[in-house]
Formats: sequence, structure tokens, C-alpha cells
Amino acid sequence: MTQKSKNIEETKKVTRTTSHVSHLVILGAGESGTGTALLAKAMGFDVFVSDMGAIADKYKKILEDNGIAYEEGQHTEAKILNADEVVKSPGIPDKAPIIQALKKKKIKAVSEIEFAGRYTAAKKVCITGTNGKTTTTLLVYHILKKAGFNAKLAGNIGESFAKQVLEESQDSNSTPNTQNSELIYVLELSSFQLDGMFKFKADIGILTNITPDHLDRYDYKIDKYVASKFRIIQNMDENCTFIYGIDSELIENNLFDVDTDAEELPFSIYPDEFDGACGDEEGITIQIGEKEYLIDLKKSVLKGQHNLYNTMAASLAAIKLGVDVKTIEAALADFQNADHRMQLVAEIDGVKYINDSKATNVDSAWYALDAYKEPIVWIAGGTDKGNDYKALFDVVKGKVKALVCMTKDSEKLEKAFKGLIPIIKKSEDVKETVQLCADLAEKGDIVLLSPCCASFDLFKNYEDRGKQFAAAVLELDTRVKTQESR
Ligand code: ADP
Repeated sequence: MTQKSKNIEETKKVTRTTSHVSHLVILGAGESGTGTALLAKAMGFDVFVSDMGAIADKYKKILEDNGIAYEEGQHTEAKILNADEVVKSPGIPDKAPIIQALKKKKIKAVSEIEFAGRYTAAKKVCITGTNGKTTTTLLVYHILKKAGFNAKLAGNIGESFAKQVLEESQDSNSTPNTQNSELIYVLELSSFQLDGMFKFKADIGILTNITPDHLDRYDYKIDKYVASKFRIIQNMDENCTFIYGIDSELIENNLFDVDTDAEELPFSIYPDEFDGACGDEEGITIQIGEKEYLIDLKKSVLKGQHNLYNTMAASLAAIKLGVDVKTIEAALADFQNADHRMQLVAEIDGVKYINDSKATNVDSAWYALDAYKEPIVWIAGGTDKGNDYKALFDVVKGKVKALVCMTKDSEKLEKAFKGLIPIIKKSEDVKETVQLCADLAEKGDIVLLSPCCASFDLFKNYEDRGKQFAAAVLELDTRVKTQESR
């Protein structure tokens, strides 16, 4: 039986076993909600989509074109509480009244990944962790593509998983199998998505690291957040692989609670005799049973200790899927990471301007500050998520020559770093911030936007912050060049 016909059989089997569920309500009509609606409709569900906010025109059109009922700007309880099952967007917190009402009525709310996972038998590589999810996900995807797999990207990133699963089943039904490459989903999973997953099984699960984040959604209890992240291993059996960053204290300290039949492959920068990966900036050694693999990192484009961890995690997954070392090395040499992650924007008068706007927590900013040997003019600040800046004191000392707080409320930052960083300035304007940095930096320095805070006080989101920063830097670049040419 080919992989595709296996998928169809599996889909039919699942549809049969879940056929008692007829009314499916989808809360949230973004990329994942709309994709889920399409898949659910194709699988014979009676679908209703409800969004508390306004639905983007492009998604409204998809729903209308496919005859799917929806509402926006409200949640009509009478319709929603009539559901047999609900698929909810990960953005809706448990505290939301509609989720509480569903709980009261004992109506199960699952995530898109849980729902769509029922309709595909393809392998799934799933990546979670506090930091490094996107980088590791993109890297696994890039390596697999280079190795000739029919890899697909989904979860927190790219197109809806459900929509791609639907396309997979349509392809299986209509086109003859001309492509021999194996289909593999590479899924980036947030803790909120994992909270809505119950029977889903990751064939390979990667847990990059855990540090405190999003505690507002977990009653400010770190144990709850940790438990959510460890859901990545639920349902794993002896054919599955659990890859994890053992140097992350919150992972190591919670491993004793882990009861899994899956193969365990930790990665670390400290050598150990166990199976797994260990590495430094020169290369990675992977040990699995009797086999050893040496991956040269000299040509890798990913720099910094955090990226060494991400590279170890992705390489372990690739090796488990049968990718050879040469292909991994080639993929590491031409990998392009997503924007706003330690991205060089420009070099102006010998000063490098780096956009690390995605560093929205203390840990991610630590790795960026650690990655550079040069003196740093650091831009930080934004909406504080209960940050404890003590963790940054060592890495800041002697290296950060100036801090520009780009935020409406700089008091906590200023207090934390007073005496440690010689110059502290503040600004609520991104252009002014860049100019302040240009005045403070000297040839050979780094200007680093790595805010360790959310962006919502001054920007729409971290992407908006990164884009505005990059635009201001490029404007400065043009100004400097024009002056020089006069
Ligand atoms: P996520 O998707 O988990 O937010 P990203 O790969 O987008 O992770 O990176 C987010 C931020 O965290 C970036 O600023 C990046 O420099 C930093 N980062 C990336 N990988 C790691 C890691 N393994 N540990 C700590 N910080 C990291």
C-alpha cells in the first residue's frame, strides 16, 4: 500500500470513528480557523465559525465561497453551546467567558492541530519551547526540503495545517502518485496550541528550552507552563523520538516526571556519554547507539550559542529521518532565518545595526547580548511581562556601553541597569532612538535592538517594531551616504 492510499484509509477510518460529531464550532476566523472550517466541511461536519473581532476580508470570502456559516463581532452562545466539539484559536485565553461557558457544559475545545491531526497519517516533526521555535522549525524544514522530502510547514507559522491536510487528502484522491518523496509536516507549536491537544502524536518532538514566559496565561504558576510544554510528548510510543535541550534547567529538573516509551535524545554544550548531540561553534557530534555523526559548522550561517542549540535540535531530527551529514551541512550553509531574529540591517560608519525585535523575553535577549563580542549600544523596553532583569547583569557588564529604553515606561529598566550601564537614555520614538544610538556608537560597535519585552506600548507587534527600526536605520544610512557624497 502506498503512503497516499494509507492516508486515505486512515482519513476514512478517523471520519468513521468521529462521525457522531456533527456540529463543529470554530472560534476565531484567522488562518487556522478558516483552514479548519474548510477541512471540517469536507469531512462532513456541520460547521459554524464565530469570531469576537472583525474577520479579515480574505477569510470572509473563503467562508462565503464555501458556504460556511459565520458571525463576527460576537459569540452567540445559543449557537456555540450547541456544538458537539469546538476548535478554538490558541489566542483565546481560558478565562474568556465563552470558554468558561463551554467548560460548564462539558463541551470539548481542541486546537486546530488536534483536529487536523486526525485526518493525516503523514509523519509529524513538532517543535516547541520558550525560544528558538521558529528558527528550529524553519531549519528542520529547510534541511528536509534539501534532502528531497515533501516537507510542509505549519502550526504557528505559514499556512494552516488543516488546510494543508485537506489538500493532501484531495491530492491523494485525484492525482496518481507521481511524487515519491515522503510527506512530512514540520509544525511549530506554542504552549497554547499544546493545551488544546489530547490524542495528537508527534513522531519527533523537539523541546528547545523552557524559561518563564506567558505566565499571565498560566495563573503565574511556572509549573503549569512547564506542564503545558511537556505535552509535546503525550501519546508518544517506542517509534517516536523526544529531542530536548538538557542544559535548560526547567527541562532537566522536570525530566524525572517524564514517563515515555519514546527514544530520548538530549542536546547539550557539555559532553556526556549518553545518546544525543553535543557541540561547540566548530561542530556537532551526534551519537545514536553505535553510530556517530560529525557535523561541521564552519560554513553554518547561524551564529551564537542559542543557534548552536537550535542547530543541534534540528540536526538530531534530520539524522533520525535518515538525512546524511553532507546534506545537513549544505543546508546550514544556505539557510535563511525569518526576519527580526538577530538580523543585520545595515553597517553605517563601521557600526552594525542588528534587528532582534523577536527577542520579547529576558532569555532571548541574553543570547543576543552574549552572541556579540563587540561593545553594544542596546535598545530595550516595551511592555514588561513581569521581567526579572537580574539574569542579564553578567552579560551586560562591561559589554553594553549604553542603553536606550524605547518604551512609554522606562522606570523599571532604568532602575535595574543604573550603575551597570554607563549611559542610559530614553525615547518613545523609533527614529529618535536610532539617532541617539548613532550618536553613542563608535566604529566597531553593535547597535542591538533586542527588547526583552513585548511591543504593544508603542507598536502593533514585534514585526511592526522590527520593520520600523529597520526603516529608521536605512533612512539614517541614506542620510549619511548623501552627506558623504556632498
Ligand atoms: P520563537 O519562535 O520560540 O519565539 P525564534 O526562533 O523566533 O523563537 O527566536 C525568538 C528570539 O529568541 C530571537 O530573538 C532569537 O534571537 C532568540 N532565540 C532563538 N533561539 C533561541 C534559543 N535556543 N534560546 C534562547 N533564545 C533563542
